[in-house]
Amino acid sequence: MSTDVWRFWFQKLSVWYQLPNGQWDTGTIKSTSGEESYISLVNGNVIKVSTEDLFPANPQILEGVDDLLQFSFLNEPSVLHNLKYRYTRDMIYSKAGPVLIAINPFKHAQLYGNDFVTAYRQKTTDSPHVYAVADTAYNEMMSDGVNQSIIISGESGSGKTETAKFTMQYLAALGGAGGGIEHEVLKTNCILEAFGNAKTSRNDNSSRFGKVIEIHFSYLGKISGAKIQTLTDLVCMLNVGSPMKSPDSLAGKVQLSTSERSFHIFYQLCAGAPPSLKEKLDLRTAKEYYYLNQSDCLVINGVDDANKFNKLMEALDIIQISREQQEHAFAMLAAILWLGNISFQAIDNENHVEALAGEAVSNAAKLLGCGVHELIVALSTHKIWAGKDGVAKKLTLQQAIDTRDALAKFIYASLFDWLLEQINKSLEVGKWCTGRSISILDIFGFESFKKNSFEQFCINYANERLQQHFNRHLLKLEQEEYEVDGVDWTKVEFEDNQECLDLFEKRPLGLLSLLDEESNFPKATDLTFANKLKQHLNANPCFKGDRGRAFGVRHYAGEVLYDTNGFLEKNRDPLHFELVQLLSSSHCQLPQLFASKMLNQSSKPASPLNVPKQSVGTKFKGQLFKLMHQLENTSPHFIRCIKPNARQLPCKYEDDLVLQQLRCCGVLEVVRISRCGYPSRITHQEFAERYGFLLSETNVAQDPLSIAVAVLQQFNILPEMYQVGYTKLYLRTGQIGALEDKRKQV
Ligand code: ATP
Ligand code: MG
Repeated sequence: MSTDVWRFWFQKLSVWYQLPNGQWDTGTIKSTSGEESYISLVNGNVIKVSTEDLFPANPQILEGVDDLLQFSFLNEPSVLHNLKYRYTRDMIYSKAGPVLIAINPFKHAQLYGNDFVTAYRQKTTDSPHVYAVADTAYNEMMSDGVNQSIIISGESGSGKTETAKFTMQYLAALGGAGGGIEHEVLKTNCILEAFGNAKTSRNDNSSRFGKVIEIHFSYLGKISGAKIQTLTDLVCMLNVGSPMKSPDSLAGKVQLSTSERSFHIFYQLCAGAPPSLKEKLDLRTAKEYYYLNQSDCLVINGVDDANKFNKLMEALDIIQISREQQEHAFAMLAAILWLGNISFQAIDNENHVEALAGEAVSNAAKLLGCGVHELIVALSTHKIWAGKDGVAKKLTLQQAIDTRDALAKFIYASLFDWLLEQINKSLEVGKWCTGRSISILDIFGFESFKKNSFEQFCINYANERLQQHFNRHLLKLEQEEYEVDGVDWTKVEFEDNQECLDLFEKRPLGLLSLLDEESNFPKATDLTFANKLKQHLNANPCFKGDRGRAFGVRHYAGEVLYDTNGFLEKNRDPLHFELVQLLSSSHCQLPQLFASKMLNQSSKPASPLNVPKQSVGTKFKGQLFKLMHQLENTSPHFIRCIKPNARQLPCKYEDDLVLQQLRCCGVLEVVRISRCGYPSRITHQEFAERYGFLLSETNVAQDPLSIAVAVLQQFNILPEMYQVGYTKLYLRTGQIGALEDKRKQV
C-alpha cells in the first residue's frame, strides 16, 4: 500500500498486517519511512513491517457489508475478515458482485422454508441468499424469455448439493402448479443421492456424479417438467469400497480404506429391505459383503440407512416406478453384492483359476437370471478369436477378479442409466410447455488428495472447463463486450486456464489423447504411459513430470500430483463379450436390457471382436462438451460454495482454507471488474421502450438513443454512472434499480 501510506498515517486509519502465524490483524501506522512502517497494535505493542505488506482496512461502517462491491478497499484480508464477520453471525451468504458466496454452516441454519420464500418473493428482504439468486433467474426467464442456468461450484463438501436442493425448493414453491410435478422433481434428489452419493473422507454425502437438472416452465411460469442430465461414467468407478475398486488382498494390494463407503444404496438396501424382499434377494447384512466390508466404515453418524430406504421407496413410488420394477432394480444391487463375494480356486500349476461354486455364485446367477455354470465359465475364461474360431483361454486370479468387477461395475452403471431414464420419462415436459427453463448445475468439486487417481483426473478436468465458463462469462466476455461496443475501459488482468485445458484436450498430444493411445496398446503399462506423457508434454507449462509413475498438473486451483496406477485399466473399462452374452441370455428383464443397450451403442454391428465401447475418458469428455454446450445458451448465475473447515464442523472458520478457495475461483477479480464496470446493460431500443414514457420533455428526437439519453438527463444520472456504447447503454450498480423505482411511481 505504498501509495496510500502517508494518508493512512496522517489520518490514523487502520491497516491490515499479517502475524508470523499467518493470521491477519489490524493496527495503525505510528510512523513510516515510506518503505518501512511502525505499526501500533491493539495491545499497545509496536512492530516494524515492510510497508508493501500492509493493506488498507475498510472503515468501521463497512464492517460486515453484504456485497464486497461496497468495499472502499478491496484486498484479501478485508474480504476474509468480512466473510468471517458475517459467518460468525450466521450470515452464511454474501455477494461478490454478481457471484453469490455461500459458506457451509455445517449446522441447521434458520434461513429456509416458507417464510423465507415469501420474503424473497415479495422482496421484503434483500440480503444475499440462494433464494434471491433463484428469484432473479426466474424473473429474468419470465421477463426476457431467455433460458437461465444456476451454476453451483466449489470443493467437495462445500455445500453444492444442499444449495442445489434449496434452489429447487424455491423454484418449486414459485412454479408449483398444484399438479404435483414439482413434488416429483424434488423427490428425484433422494433417488439420485441414494444411487450416486457415497461417504468419503471429505463429505459424508459426496456426489460421485455431476448433474444438471433442467426445470421447464409453462407460459404462466408453472413447472411443466424436468430433465436430468449427468456425467455418469464416473458413477461406475468412483470410490474405494465400491464395486469399482476391488482391493485384492491375494495379490498383496490391500487397500483398506477408513471412513469411506460405497454408494449409499447398498447399505440402505441391506438395512431397510422388508423381510420378504430380503428373502427373495438372499440379502445379508452389509458386513457380509466383500465389496462393502473392505472398509471399516459401514454406518454414517446420524444417518439411519433403514429409514432412508423407506424414504427411497416412497420417492420411487412418486416417480411412478412400479413396485415390480423397483424389485428388479434391487435384485441387480443384490446381484452385484453377491458377485463381489465370488472367490476363485486354482485349477492348475499355471496360476489359472475358476470361480468357486457355492452360495455366492448361485445367488448371483439366480438374481441375474442366468445359469450357474454359464456364470462360472464367463468369470473364469476369456475367448480369444482367431478369425471365426474362438478359443477359450483360462484366466489368472487377477484377470478373473478384474472380470468379475467389470461385470459388477457394468451392471451398476447400467442400472443408474436405466433409473435416470425412468425418472426423465416420469418428468417429461408437457406439450403445452413454452420451452423456458432454468438449469441447475451441481458438479463434483475440485479434488486434491495425497494420492490422486483417474477419478480425480476426470473431476479436475471437468472443473477446469467449468472454471473457463466462469472466467469467460464474468471476466472475458464482459471486457470484450465493452471493447466491441466502444466503451472506454481499462482492462483487468485475470488468470486464463486455456493452457491447462489444452494440456487435457489437444490432439494428438494431450493428456486424454495420449491416454487413449496408450490404452490401445496391449503391452502398455502405467509406467510406459507416464513416460509417454513426460516425453510429449514437458513443454506445456501446466504439466510437471515427476518421478516414476507420477505426473503433476498445475490446475487453476493448485497443483495436483496424479499417480498413473490403474489409469489405463480404468480408461479401457474392459467388458468381455462373454459377459454381455451372458446378460443377454438372461431370462430377467433388466440384464437383457443392459446387454442390448451395450450392443446397440455403436453403429458397427457387434461381434465378438468388437464390443462397442468408447474409452471412459473420451466418453466423459463427450458428456462434458454436451453439458457445456447446453450451458452456453443460457444466461448464467453463479454460486460459489466455500468450505470453512476440513472437518465438517460448525462455527469453525479457517482463514487459510477459505482464502485458498477464494483465490482459486477468482472471486476477487470478479469484484474488481464489477467495481470498475457497468454490470447493467440494456440496448438503446429496450431502454427507450421501457423508460421512454417517463419523459416529461416532448421535444426529443424519436430515435432510441436520443430518448435514452434524455431520460438519463431528466433523472440527473451522473455521466460517470453510465456509458453509451454503439448498441447498448452500460450502467453502474444501482442505476437501473433507481429507474425502476421511478417507473413504479408513475
Ligand atoms: P461433493 O462435491 O462431495 O458432492 P458438496 O459440495 O455437494 O460436496 P454437500 O453434500 O452439499 O457438499 O454438503 C456437505 C454437507 O454440508 C451436507 O451434508 C450438510 O451437512 C452440510 N451443509 C451444506 N450446506 C448446508 C446448508 N446450507 N445448511 C446446513 N448444512 C449444510
Ligand atoms: Mg454434492
